[in-house]
Amino acid sequence: MITVEKLTKTFPGKKGVVHALDGVTLSVPESTVCGVVGPSGAGKSTLARCIALLEQPDSGSITVEGTDLVSLRGRDLRAARRRIGVVPQGDSLLRQRTAAGNVALPLESAGVSPAARRTRVVELLDLVGLTDKAGSYPDQLSGGQRQRVAVARALAARPSVLLADEPTSALDPETTGSVLTVLDRVRAELGVTVLVVTHDMAVVRRICDDVAVLADGQIVEHGKVLDLLTVPGSRITASLLPEID
Ligand code: ATP
Ligand code: MG
Repeated sequence: MITVEKLTKTFPGKKGVVHALDGVTLSVPESTVCGVVGPSGAGKSTLARCIALLEQPDSGSITVEGTDLVSLRGRDLRAARRRIGVVPQGDSLLRQRTAAGNVALPLESAGVSPAARRTRVVELLDLVGLTDKAGSYPDQLSGGQRQRVAVARALAARPSVLLADEPTSALDPETTGSVLTVLDRVRAELGVTVLVVTHDMAVVRRICDDVAVLADGQIVEHGKVLDLLTVPGSRITASLLPEID
């Protein structure tokens, strides 16, 4: 379960302060998938980065599995980061490492023994359907396969929460499907709570239970996907819908 309350984050901008997050309150129930959509610059990545503890909010609270993340420091902060899996925006794999080597990276950082690492990497590559690509380098993989390796890597430390920022943005519909199937498995089989930032309403329709619409740092709508897509309650949500078909 992820709970975000009255979260604010500002950045200095050329024309004054930018309110990237302006009082965002949102909760994602355990083992569900929540989509975050909205226009460019709405604050979607900032929200994901704050929950991932990659960005320190100005005020507000973030709770994951009952632990308040914002007040954590030092060792506790590092431990909390490990409970959150992140699939960053764009191509995030190390070029000089194989698929297996990329998945093993967080395990190496956490000091897991080589034998335990090997077992875990085999499990993770199996989960994302890439057992036969263990020895392939990122350049030898398709975009969808690379993203599935990134998902496997994000899950290495058995996080309870997975944040994916535009995981399918550079992919064609067919490869998008393979990544979405994996995210769906992560929720259904591992019980992970997933937050997925996307500009693609087809992604929302296919895997999300709930969706939050963000604009100018504020949530303009939040609810069940079926409800929002059937009767959009705001102009912004309505403007995102034509992209479906
Ligand atoms: P996109 O769909 O284009 O990825 P987004 O919804 O993810 O957009 P954010 O990246 O969260 O938007 O940015 C929200 C606002 O905060 C924007 O106005 C952006 O310019 C600003 N911003 C984000 N990160 C920084 C930063 N590190 N420094 C300054 N301004 C930033
Ligand atoms: Mg973004």
